[in-house]
Amino acid sequence: MRQKIVAGNWKMNKNAGQTQELITELLQNLPQTEAKVIIAPTFVNLAQAVNQTKGTAIEVVAQNMHQAEGGAFTGEISADMLTNIGIKTVILGHSERRAYFHETDALLANKVDTALKHEMKVIFCFGEELKDRQDKQHFNVVEYQLKDALFHLGEDAWKNIILAYEPVWAIGTGETASPEQAQEMHKFIRETILERYGNDVAENVSILYGGSVKPDNAKEIFSQADVDGGLIGGASLKADDFVGIINGI
Ligand code: PEP
Repeated sequence: MRQKIVAGNWKMNKNAGQTQELITELLQNLPQTEAKVIIAPTFVNLAQAVNQTKGTAIEVVAQNMHQAEGGAFTGEISADMLTNIGIKTVILGHSERRAYFHETDALLANKVDTALKHEMKVIFCFGEELKDRQDKQHFNVVEYQLKDALFHLGEDAWKNIILAYEPVWAIGTGETASPEQAQEMHKFIRETILERYGNDVAENVSILYGGSVKPDNAKEIFSQADVDGGLIGGASLKADDFVGIINGI
């Protein structure tokens, strides 16, 4: 059985006090669920969030990391720094990292390798832009993002990979892919993995959907056969909304 996951990407939101407050509210209201619940606060608040959630059902993960082991990379954070404070998972390839920080699939392949070397799990984000979909290139774009960043991996590495399909046109826009559009792409992604790695890897990899998921559309999206949960941006910043989305699993 594939793992169901609901992950909240807090992006550059919530200072230390607000981080503590939101985690307290989430812990008080977390429903019984088969899903793994993940939150990704900003770097400076990770250590306190790890401490606050110790022994609870919430896993705290990082939003990014650098590919190098260490050295002269001002402002960056290494895998060792993350694992040393108890972080076991990192989000890589978010569309905002790709758009504003020029992260390419070649660079992301390096980041993935570094994370796996440090025995971290990776939530790998990818997805087409609006123009790609209008040009009917969305399947091509998604296929090459996957291949260029992940298909150098051996079969064994895939137990530590979680995929997050996030059409860029649906992120933070209020525009959601329809459940049918999400399912169509998730099925394509699973088939692409099946062709390269076989049934075991394809059937066991969790594929999350991200893009304007809200409490009122979560259930329908999560009920699609190849959708194993969601990566949530805006709606993960309020406990009520995030809990509502978790209840959609
Ligand atoms: C995201 O940034 O990963 C995301 C899905 O954002 P939102 O839910 O706000 O569209």
